[in-house]
Amino acid sequence: MPQSLVLILGDQLSHGLSALGAADRASDVVLMAEVMAEASYVPHHKKKIALIFSAMRHFSAELRQAGWTVDYVKLDDPANTGTLGGEVQRALSRHGLTRVIATEPGEWRLLAEMQSWPATTLLADRRFLADRAGFADWAAGRSGLRMEHFYRIMRRKTGLLMDNGQPVGGRWNFDADNRKAIDRDLHIPQPPRFTPDPITREVLDLVAKRFPDNFGSLEPFWFGVDRSDAEAAFAHFVRHALPLFGSYQDAMLRGQAFLYHAVIAPYLNLGLLDPLEICRVVETAWRNGTIPLNSAEGFIRQVIGWREFVRGIYWWRMPGYEHANALRAQRPLPTFYWTAETSMACLGACISQTRDEAYAHHIQRLMVTGNFALLAGIDPHELHRWYLSVYADAFEWVELPNTIGMSQFADDGLLASKPYAASGSYINRMSDYCRGCRYDVKAKSGPDACPFNLLYWDFIARHRERLARNPRMAPMVRTWDRFSAERQQQLRGDAASFLETLG
Ligand code: FAD
Ligand code: SF4
Repeated sequence: MPQSLVLILGDQLSHGLSALGAADRASDVVLMAEVMAEASYVPHHKKKIALIFSAMRHFSAELRQAGWTVDYVKLDDPANTGTLGGEVQRALSRHGLTRVIATEPGEWRLLAEMQSWPATTLLADRRFLADRAGFADWAAGRSGLRMEHFYRIMRRKTGLLMDNGQPVGGRWNFDADNRKAIDRDLHIPQPPRFTPDPITREVLDLVAKRFPDNFGSLEPFWFGVDRSDAEAAFAHFVRHALPLFGSYQDAMLRGQAFLYHAVIAPYLNLGLLDPLEICRVVETAWRNGTIPLNSAEGFIRQVIGWREFVRGIYWWRMPGYEHANALRAQRPLPTFYWTAETSMACLGACISQTRDEAYAHHIQRLMVTGNFALLAGIDPHELHRWYLSVYADAFEWVELPNTIGMSQFADDGLLASKPYAASGSYINRMSDYCRGCRYDVKAKSGPDACPFNLLYWDFIARHRERLARNPRMAPMVRTWDRFSAERQQQLRGDAASFLETLG
């Protein structure tokens, strides 16, 4: 006799999931459902929807093979109610069940909904290293939260890159070695491309039919869709890209979307890869001498440091965090974020790459699309909905703190010690975008001046009082104060003229 319905969500594709651990393979029924409410609450990139549905279908096949009874509801099932709650109700009556077991979802909105379902047991998601309550306890007693402090706790907890209780190499952090500009002559590996199998092809047809107007190119579709693909992609990264990952982590190059990045966030966030397992592989590669320490430490810091830290902040600060807007930024998101039609070469490159690949690496997100929005005073909530839509790896628990906190300083410095604001010279130093741009990155004012230069000073001026109190920004405020009144007026006038063109 079946006893419980085990609900598995689209980003819970892990065989070790707590809900599966608590269920009885012999008698319980697993429910997986593709529902319109989840596929459309933001206008997700076509590739993102296809990836999630295909990975869900592959995971359901693996579960069946492992002996589970799986009830899988496809999006185009005529009886599909379109909501998770509706599908749970239908499945309960179909199978004559009354109890639901699920692992907590990764999003506050859905957690609030599921908590209201009757007879539903919600279990903690144990696929992370830091639990929500532990993070909140750590955070509550501090005046300022710094990732670096949290990261050291994670290093000690996991023992990663530690020898006799001390960080290997005598330092916790090798970030200073990770800011090299890139040289075009270097060999740049590409992530492996997986050919869509019949399951994925069916999903691609479905997405083309049901989401024709969503952002992004659906084809070519080459993401991995199951654990074995994800492991192959990760192994390829460790072998071919990780040795130079550290050094060129912040670099950007026209026509090169991936450089030495792992392109594994979609797999990690769906549950196809385990964060601790992959970090152990990276540590072993360093101990075996196949990769340098700055790459190993840089990668491990992103995964056990930043990834866990932003998740902790998300759950600690939600639900209010989503609407944080400390800088009172209210300008609507410019249309070119959806069309890539802009004469700013850096933004054009990052957005068209996002449209084509549902991917941009961290510095493209932070220092190009994010930096521009920060400087131009774009409404952070609108920007959040954009980031949540356009990347294959975008799930709210990780996207929101990166956008609201790290990129837009909308939480008033809870997550980041200073705004990630930079003029065109940063982009020029770290990329080759400025060559061939209609704007002049060296010009500080006038109609040809790089808009990042104009907007940078306008940003400093707009937030002068707040930034003067920030020890890391105060020197820039002092520089602004030393400009003559005429220069200040001209810079602000040029910035205002540029902002008017955004509509
Ligand atoms: P790599 O550069 O190769 O890094 C390895 C792994 O480290 C990533 O796969 C990721 O799991 C982890 N990582 C690195 N930086 C971060 C970070 N800041 N926060 C959390 N994890 C990190 N990441 C997401 O997974 N989903 C998002 O929706 C997302 N939205 C972002 C929005 C903005 C505005 C910014 C600035 C960053 C965002 N990030 C997000 C973080 C980061 O940009 C991506 O994790 C990374 O670019 C994914 O590409 P990759 O797998 O090649 O990562
Ligand atoms: Fe971007 Fe300015 Fe460089 Fe053009 S000149 S690519 S707008 S930073």
